[in-house]
Amino acid sequence: MSENKTKDRKEQLFSTAKNGYDRISQEDLAAMEAYCRLYRDYLDRGKTERECTLRTVQLAQERGFQPYRTGMDLQPGDKVYVCNRGKSVMLAVIGRKSLAEGARIIAAHIDAPRLDMKPTPLYEDSELAYFKTHYYGGIRKYQWVTIPLELRGVVVLKDGTVVPVALGEGDEPKFVINDLLPHLGAEQNKRPLGEAIPGESLNILLGSRPVGESGEGDRVKLQVMELLHEKYGITEDDFASAELEAVPAGNSTDIGLDASMIGAYGHDDRVCGFAALQGLLDIDVPEHTAVCMLADKEEIGSMGVTGMQSAAFDTFLHDLCESQGVALRRCYEKSFCLSADVTAAYDPNFADVFEKRNAARLNYGVGICKYTGARGKSGSSDACAETVAFVRRVLDEAQVIWQIAELGKVDAGGGGTVAMYMANRNIATLDAGVPVLSMHAPFETVSKLDCYMTYKGCKAVYQA
Ligand code: MN
Ligand code: MN
Repeated sequence: MSENKTKDRKEQLFSTAKNGYDRISQEDLAAMEAYCRLYRDYLDRGKTERECTLRTVQLAQERGFQPYRTGMDLQPGDKVYVCNRGKSVMLAVIGRKSLAEGARIIAAHIDAPRLDMKPTPLYEDSELAYFKTHYYGGIRKYQWVTIPLELRGVVVLKDGTVVPVALGEGDEPKFVINDLLPHLGAEQNKRPLGEAIPGESLNILLGSRPVGESGEGDRVKLQVMELLHEKYGITEDDFASAELEAVPAGNSTDIGLDASMIGAYGHDDRVCGFAALQGLLDIDVPEHTAVCMLADKEEIGSMGVTGMQSAAFDTFLHDLCESQGVALRRCYEKSFCLSADVTAAYDPNFADVFEKRNAARLNYGVGICKYTGARGKSGSSDACAETVAFVRRVLDEAQVIWQIAELGKVDAGGGGTVAMYMANRNIATLDAGVPVLSMHAPFETVSKLDCYMTYKGCKAVYQA
């Protein structure tokens, strides 16, 4: 073959993955910046699953969504939602077609790795007051020391009163977990990274100023309890029925001289959760009923009443189906679900854990994952080729920039999403989401282009 002919044949036969910036339209570039401002606002207002739920309901109500009531008469274009115990939300826009033709579902999670307070958290040691913590989700413990923290959550009093707690916002004093000084770190330095900071040393510093007379004990603890009582009317016993979460303090920020990325706590998985939500808010009356599921508890296995394994989702879909005289199982078998969750972005600083030909790259668009899991795809629903082909078609037709990837090298580790819990319901499911640098760290990085393309992809799936 001549040189030109070889080139032509390569163009015809080879995959030509290009950086998203070489493909994105001017129109999309402008829309991307506007979208990312909305996303950052959502992140800054939602540091916990409860806060994300609250904000989601507000945004949905502003766009005409009504709380679903049992037995409601639903017409195409009607918009309803169910808030599950203040920690998870399900929203739907009723389609023109019967639910017997299936729904278009996007499921993401709004919980994120963090430090939860133990049931008996408060203590004083050496005239310093602390909270004991129990980490939630897969964290690298060494990343959570010597960074400013906020405390968020609720204390539920014995009479059922829910007292929202937010400490450390804006200019308020923050909290911190201290680490060893390098001068005395000789022994700690010898420990493996995963053991250098034991879980029981993740104690949050709360105060140092004693009250009362010298010689008495627990004077700093008393001061802390006094302040909490003054602000929230709580006593130490009330911690038993509290959900207090320590999260990194501060808001999201643009990253890079070119401001092409966003750094923040909780991209996993609010970056997909917001894309799924905003996508739903922005569609007109869809053909198939469009459902957005924002789940809790993904980071600890999707268990519990607010997790993806909960029957709450089935109840919601059952109710929608029943209003049309459709059996839930008939709806499920015709439905499609995009499990919208983040994936690992290729990081040249840690090249040895990635397989470069099958790694998601920053700015190459929303990353499809046929399977997650560990080792031999264990714990993965492994989508079928037909499902992947469907999504390829939907994304291409909507001019969504996308890529297909694995999490990392086959033997390097692994991870899971809610995909398998949807697939187990007999719903064809595929994972897709934003590639993240430093996933699960207190400060994660994503690219704006990938965020926007995930939103665009979600919108396309709802309308498919
Ligand atoms: Mn996730
Ligand atoms: Mn995660």
